[in-house]
Formats: sequence, structure tokens, C-alpha cells
Amino acid sequence: MATEAASDIILAGIVIHIQRKEIKNLYIRLSPDDGSVMVSAPRNMKEATLRNILAGRMAWIEKRQKRYQKAIETKLQNGDDEAYWLWGKKYHLEIVTGALQSKILPVPPSRLQMHRAIAPPVEKKEKWLALWFREQLEQAIPDLAARWEKIIGVKVAVWRVKTMKTLWGSCNVRARRIWLNSELVKRPPECLEYVVVHEMVHLLEASHNRRFYAFMDRFLPDWKERRRRLNRFLNM
Ligand SMILES: [Zn+2]
Repeated sequence: MATEAASDIILAGIVIHIQRKEIKNLYIRLSPDDGSVMVSAPRNMKEATLRNILAGRMAWIEKRQKRYQKAIETKLQNGDDEAYWLWGKKYHLEIVTGALQSKILPVPPSRLQMHRAIAPPVEKKEKWLALWFREQLEQAIPDLAARWEKIIGVKVAVWRVKTMKTLWGSCNVRARRIWLNSELVKRPPECLEYVVVHEMVHLLEASHNRRFYAFMDRFLPDWKERRRRLNRFLNM
């Protein structure tokens, strides 16, 4: 193997890794690992020439880096490419085609299968998953509600799962209506229970005052630990 000399140059604030090789032309590529710019350059090319060529390609390089950055952000939002959280556990999506019946099926410990006749387009896939996740949360509510209505001694008129940006739940005391954040389906079930109890306690005490927290301590002695877990999980 020929010896390779590596060096870095900085252009427009972007670090460019240069590798000198026995080649005729200059090649630019972005590392799939971290989006850094890698250049393979002919061994005998003068640095001034090299800088000149790269300066002419900066618009292209910046565009590529932006695209890379965007892909990384999307990945982070989903946790992984095809990873989804359900009740505090991570699942990897598997598309099963040729299915007679369309369904989504968690296969413990970590697979989430989407059964379809043919492979779904990306937008459809995301839409079906979002609907399915919402259903899982909606189906978890009746049992929790029945149990806690008995313990707390209140009656909730309406439960709704909603997309909410800043709250895990909210309670309209007068209408006895509780809204739950659709993201709760991703967290461990005990976190959902904490939010449910918190919102139901508002039917006894509307404010976050001493009386409210006394109820919380009585009904759910470990509520602080659950709240901590709920919010810590968010930062994972
Ligand atoms: Zn509250």
C-alpha cells in the first residue's frame, strides 16, 4: 500500500481533511459517520491549486453538509432510523409484506411489525404508525380511569388524547375534561398513570397548592419519582 499523507485545511470555517494519493483527479466526499469533508488529492498538486479548486466547490460542500445535518436531526427526533418507543421500550420497525390482513404487531422483546400487502410509502407508514400509537394510548385509558375514579372519588366526563407541545396533560375542571399528551405512549406506563392521577386530582383541587400535593402524596406516594422518570426520559 502506498503511503498516504493526511493534513487538514480550513476554508470558510469548514475543516477539510486532505489525503494525498497516487491519483490524477481530486475527489470530495462527506463522511457518512460525522459529515466531515474528506478530499483525496493528487500527491503532486500544489496547495494553492488545491485551495482554489476547493474554494470553487464551497457552495456544493455547504449544501451537502446542511443536508447531512438535517438527516442527523431527523434521526435524533425518531431516536433511530426505524426505532420507536412504546411504553418505555424501544422497538425496531419491520415491514412484513404479502400480508392478507393489515395490522401493526409488537413482537417482544423489541420488534414492531407492520403487516401490509405491499410495502407502504414512507408518508403512509408514518401516518399508520402515528394512528396506531394513539390507539394504544386511548386503549390504556379506560382501565386507568375506572380504577382511579374509584380511589379518588371523582368522575371524568371526557378523556382526549392530543398532540401537545408543552404539557403532559391538562384538566378543564368545569367541563371535567382531561387531555393527555399523545407522546405519553412512548413513556413507561407508570408515567402515564402519574399524569392521569395528577389531572384527576385537579377535580378535587384546581390549583397546585399544598392541598393539591397532599392529595398527590396520599394517592400516589411515589409521584415525584414518576415525574422525575417522565421528564428524564424525555431527554434520552
Ligand atoms: Zn396540574
